[in-house]
Parts: sequence; structure tokens; C-alpha cells
Amino acid sequence: MTGSPSYGRVIVWFRRALRADDNPALWHAMHDAASVVPLLCLSEDPSYGQVTPRREFIRTAIIGLDASLRNAGSHLHCRMGSPETELPAAAQAYGAEAVYAVGLHDPGSLERDARIERALRTVGVPFVRFPDRVLRGAGDVMTGSGTPFRVYTPYKNAWLAGADEVAPAVSAPRRIAPVPPAAGSTDLLSPGWPGMHGAAKKDGLARLRAFMTAGAGQYDARRDLPGVDGTSRLSPYLAVGAVSIRRVFHAAREARAGASSGARKGFDTFINELVWREFYYQILTHYPHVMRAPFRPEFAGIPWSADEKSFRRWKDGTTGYPIVDAAMRQLRAEGWMHNRARMIVASFLTKDLHINWQWGEQYFFTTLTDADHASNNGGWQWTAGTGTDASPWFRIFNPLLQGKKFDPKGAYVRRYVPELAGFSDAVIHDPWTANRQEQEAAGCVIGRGYPAPMVDHAEARVRTMAIYRMSGTTASTASASRVRTRSQV
Ligand SMILES: Cc1cc2nc3c(=O)[nH]c(=O)nc-3n(C[C@H](O)[C@H](O)[C@H](O)COP(=O)(O)OP(=O)(O)OC[C@H]3O[C@@H](n4cnc5c(N)ncnc54)[C@H](O)[C@@H]3O)c2cc1C
Repeated sequence: MTGSPSYGRVIVWFRRALRADDNPALWHAMHDAASVVPLLCLSEDPSYGQVTPRREFIRTAIIGLDASLRNAGSHLHCRMGSPETELPAAAQAYGAEAVYAVGLHDPGSLERDARIERALRTVGVPFVRFPDRVLRGAGDVMTGSGTPFRVYTPYKNAWLAGADEVAPAVSAPRRIAPVPPAAGSTDLLSPGWPGMHGAAKKDGLARLRAFMTAGAGQYDARRDLPGVDGTSRLSPYLAVGAVSIRRVFHAAREARAGASSGARKGFDTFINELVWREFYYQILTHYPHVMRAPFRPEFAGIPWSADEKSFRRWKDGTTGYPIVDAAMRQLRAEGWMHNRARMIVASFLTKDLHINWQWGEQYFFTTLTDADHASNNGGWQWTAGTGTDASPWFRIFNPLLQGKKFDPKGAYVRRYVPELAGFSDAVIHDPWTANRQEQEAAGCVIGRGYPAPMVDHAEARVRTMAIYRMSGTTASTASASRVRTRSQV
């Protein structure tokens, strides 16, 4: 750190950047202030209520952040309550002259930030935000005519052409001078915070290193198989900011440079997936209406079903389609679901059950450990056909064929739908086709031990086509059939 500090004390408010490494708010605070207070506001006690994978992940990420701050001699200062009231109170209690945080992109957070900014202004404290969540800002990658990209492939090409502009990652501060807790704040490990005790789990940077050394090189061949551990599973760390997106990108680029020519494709595909994330962030920034309505307004009139019972069967993983049920059970058990499976279940909800994608989006958002406004909304709208992919119905996923193609030996289904484990590979994705004797031999009679399919996919498909057609969307299909931007089907 160079130069003389311009502030006596700055609060760094930790939100979706739960890390000390490459944290621009922390880095700038260390540079700008003589003393830094790392602060966390919790609106609810994380030890209270139902233990879910999502709550547990956030809890351990906070423990990990506190541990890394302690390594540097400081620790998290915690306040229970809304940041709108806690930040001004903390600024006064600590005598802080500014509050630093990373910038967020979703409309809800932006509105809240405006309220926080006003509240802090009343106590004379500026609220300063630093770009963090994306590698390249939404305004940095635009079409030649200065408009935002609406289609992934040209966006990706423009993004990759400027990849050298991505800022380097900076290390965690080695030493942060400790500040004693002020009135209204507590230490994370104090007895008043029982939910925060426990060891920090294997951290995200270790996972990143492991994936780059073994895994990323074969990513291209393995990433589409839900039964195989072929993806990085970094998304939860990126969602809460426990790992910096710049660290991930630079690690991939460096590993690619040293990889064999055969492995490079894996790294390239991995980087392309990071660009999908960037793409959805810029869509959210330029078109914030996507959080409440279809990206493409012509799909606003789709007459979705409001069948709560079917929705519940989808959530419970009892649809009778093994690949769908395996995926939904994985989500509930782990708070994470494989990308291929996400597309299959999203297609099933919208195009087999004809239930609004927004119901699915909401359920995912509250259940996923990697819940992210931009990627979740983008993934749902893409699959529902209301978003940046221009093809509403030829991309109807057939759950049976998807299962046979991407889980050919039924490893994924056997893991999450154990009642089907006794069926042979040949029928594990359509166990209802096995005769009674085979079902009994497998230890599971369809209709008793496992449900029969809740809908006939072929009929549902015909209905989907009619629904989209009725919604006046036929005009888009001719061009849509030419825009196969992604090998999804
Ligand atoms: C319906 C639906 C909902 C989704 N919801 C989310 C969500 O809430 N949060 C989330 O992070 N991702 C979401 N995705 C995207 C994708 O499924 C996950 O990012 C991926 O499965 C995470 O696993 P991973 O870290 O092993 O990914 P990897 O395959 O290892 O990819 C590395 C990283 O690239 C990014 N990435 C990969 N695929 C995509 C993609 N299709 N779109 C955007 N970014 C991508 C992620 O940050 C991911 O961690 C959703 C996809 C669909 C179809």
C-alpha cells in the first residue's frame, strides 16, 4: 500500500464478497484509510430455523471469511439487523468516515443501495461501491453500434477479443490492525452467535486449484454428464463471493497456457462458461425488467398453469421421470444441481407441466447454494424460451432421451433415486416399460414403489407448441431455427 491514507477509518461492509482475497472493497479501504473495520450485517440469526444446504453454505463461508481476517490480525464485526439502519449506526459508533462495499447488479440490491446511501448521507458518510462481480463491466462489451448484445455468441466473441483487459487479482492484506467492537457490534465467535461456531470447510481456492490441476483439462468431454464429477462446482463460492471471479479466470488462463494441446479445449470451454455468466450479468444490467417479466415481451401472454399439486411433485422429485426426479432430489439434498439437469428440469416444468418459469426461478433461488439473480434468471428464461435464446419450442427437452444420452448407465438416477437402482441400464430411464416380472425383480413396481410418469411427454409437447403459437410467437421461430447458439439438446 502506498501514499498517505485519506480517511482515518473506513468500514468495509461484507456482503456478496465473503472473502479477504482479491476483495476490491477491502483492498481500497486498506489503501485509503488508517484503520479498517470489517463488518457483517445479518438480518437473521443463521442458526435459527431450518438447516438447509444454502444456509449452511453461507454460514461456513462467513466462518471462512472471519478465519482469514483473523489470520491478518483482525476479525469480523457483526451486527444483527438491516444494513439500512445498522450501517449508519455502525459508522457513528466506530467514527468511520466512509463505508466501502462491492457493487451488486440486481434491481432489488440497487434499490436498497440507494436507500443505504441516503441513510449514510444523513450521518455525513459516503457509501462507496467497487465493481467486483464480473470480469468485464456491462458497458465494456457492446456491439459496434454501441448497443448491448442480446445473443450470446457475438457477445462471447467480443468479450474474448478484450479478455486481456480483465484486471489482475490482488492478494488478501497480510495485516489488518484490529479495532475493538463498538456499541451494538459483536465478535462472530462471541456466545451470542451460536450459529457461527465451527471449522471453516475446505475453501474455494483449494477447490479451484484442484480443478485446474485435475479436471479442467477434461471439462469439455465430461461437463455434460450429471453422473460424473466433471465440473468445477465453484458456483456456490462465486455466488457468495467466497472466491473471486478474477481468480477463477486467471487460474484457468494460466493453466491453459501450460496444458497439452488436447487439454486446451477443456479450458476454452470452461472460459466460455464464465462468459455465459458475464453475458447474463450484462443482460440483467441492461434489461433489468427480466427480474419480473420475460426478456422478450411477446412471451408475456403465455397462459401458464397454476397447478400447485404438479408443482409440488416437481419440487419433491416424484414426477415419474427418473432424470427429472434425480435432479430435483439432488437440489434438495445438496443445494446444487448439475447444469444439464437444470436445463432438463426447467424444460420439464415449463414445457411438460406448463408452469410459469418464474415459479421455478423462485424455487431455485431459495434452494440453490449458488443462487445468483443473473444466471438463474438467464437460465430459466433461456430454457423457457422467453429469454435470450430465440427458440421457444424446438428446444423442448425430451426427459427420456436426455436421460439416455447424458446418463447412459443411470449412475445419476441410481444415486438420487435409489428405489430405481435395481433396474437395468436399458430401462432405468423408462422403468415403466419393464414388464411386471422385471419390475418385481428390480424391487420396485411402478405405480407403487415409484410413480408412473405424471404426464405423457409427447402430448405435453404438442400442447406446448400450441400454447406458444397461441401467444403469437410463431414469427420468431423461422429465425430461431437458424440461431443454435448452444449445444443444449
Ligand atoms: C434453469 C437454470 C438455473 C440456473 N441458476 C443458476 C444460479 O442460480 N447460479 C449460478 O451460478 N448458475 C446458475 N445456472 C447456470 C449453471 O447451471 C451453473 O452455473 C453451473 O451448473 C454451476 O456448476 P459449476 O460451478 O460446477 O459449473 P462449471 O461447469 O464448472 O462452470 C464454471 C462456472 O461458469 C459459470 N457458468 C457455467 N455455466 C453457466 C451458465 N449456463 N450460465 C451462467 N453461468 C454459468 C458458473 O459461474 C460456474 O461456476 C443455471 C442454469 C439453468 C439452466
